[in-house]
Amino acid sequence: MLRKILTCFSLMLVLALAGTASAKPAELTGITAFDLNNETVRIEISYSGGKLDSSNVSTELREGLLRVELDNALPGRVSRVSGTQIQSDARNCVEKILVNKTQKRHTGIQVYFKEAVADNVTVLLEPANRSDKKDARIVLDVKKYSAPKEDTYSSYDGNGRIVVLDPGHGGSDWGAIGPTGVSEKSVSLAVSLKAERLLTDAGYQVVMTRTTDIDVAAPGVPDAAELQARVDKAPPNAELFISVHCNAFSNSNANGVETYHAPNAVKGSRLARLLNEELFRLGGLNNRGVKAARFYVMTHSQCPASLIELGFITNPREEKLLASSDYQQKLAQAITNAVNRYFNQGGYES
Ligand SMILES: [Zn+2]
Repeated sequence: MLRKILTCFSLMLVLALAGTASAKPAELTGITAFDLNNETVRIEISYSGGKLDSSNVSTELREGLLRVELDNALPGRVSRVSGTQIQSDARNCVEKILVNKTQKRHTGIQVYFKEAVADNVTVLLEPANRSDKKDARIVLDVKKYSAPKEDTYSSYDGNGRIVVLDPGHGGSDWGAIGPTGVSEKSVSLAVSLKAERLLTDAGYQVVMTRTTDIDVAAPGVPDAAELQARVDKAPPNAELFISVHCNAFSNSNANGVETYHAPNAVKGSRLARLLNEELFRLGGLNNRGVKAARFYVMTHSQCPASLIELGFITNPREEKLLASSDYQQKLAQAITNAVNRYFNQGGYES
């Protein structure tokens, strides 16, 4: 009996040792971030020693933070101060890279992005290349939000169609306010004015419910009166009504873009979907989707209408983006693209 237990024990020991020997840990030899093309940032994690396969690599990308967990890997000589490199072409996008040993034979890497990136990452494992003297690598590709291509939607003509832009809030109504004091009313107005310019250049006739920081009806009137005053700005032959807002939530982690249409509004839901696609494509935030709701301006508008939430002003990262003129310009371009697609201009599918 005792002998049997001992045999059993030694067999387990042998198996345990064999297991350890066959899975020699990899050691990181370097991490480099660079701009692959204007749309993608690539992060290469090179290593030597042990072998890694896809089961050793897990990633999570949320709100501009990419977490990479490597099983059976050690940081080796790579630490934050040495062994990580953000090439100059990626410095406007990648803020910093941290490396730490999280458990025995386990390494965590965090890549912090400055610029909005899509919430998914492509992982590729490349073997070592002796002739190039390259170590084995884990290649991570992260999509940036793509800059609007100047010529993409250039071949359309708005034909004088009337589009109403409604910058949410204004005057005595500040809307939501971000952690550093950026107001929803200022962002909605800035983006709408930029979109007005782009749409006008494209041949649309744009009607603004406001072009300055004012209450459209009057300060202090009931909400319905203020919102009706905005709906009333639309001339009878207006073809679209787009109300521009920013989202807010008590939890500052809430993030992303969403667009709305009135329930059962066929044309309105198509407009909301196109706005959602373009805002997501060019803005690059998390996509919360297209939703139906009974917002006053949508249910009372005489033409197809959508209300768009550009992002969460209560989220510090999105507040910063929403306040930036460059980012506002991308959102304005997204609105313009969606309007063009709505009218099937320039040969783009709806
Ligand atoms: Zn609002």
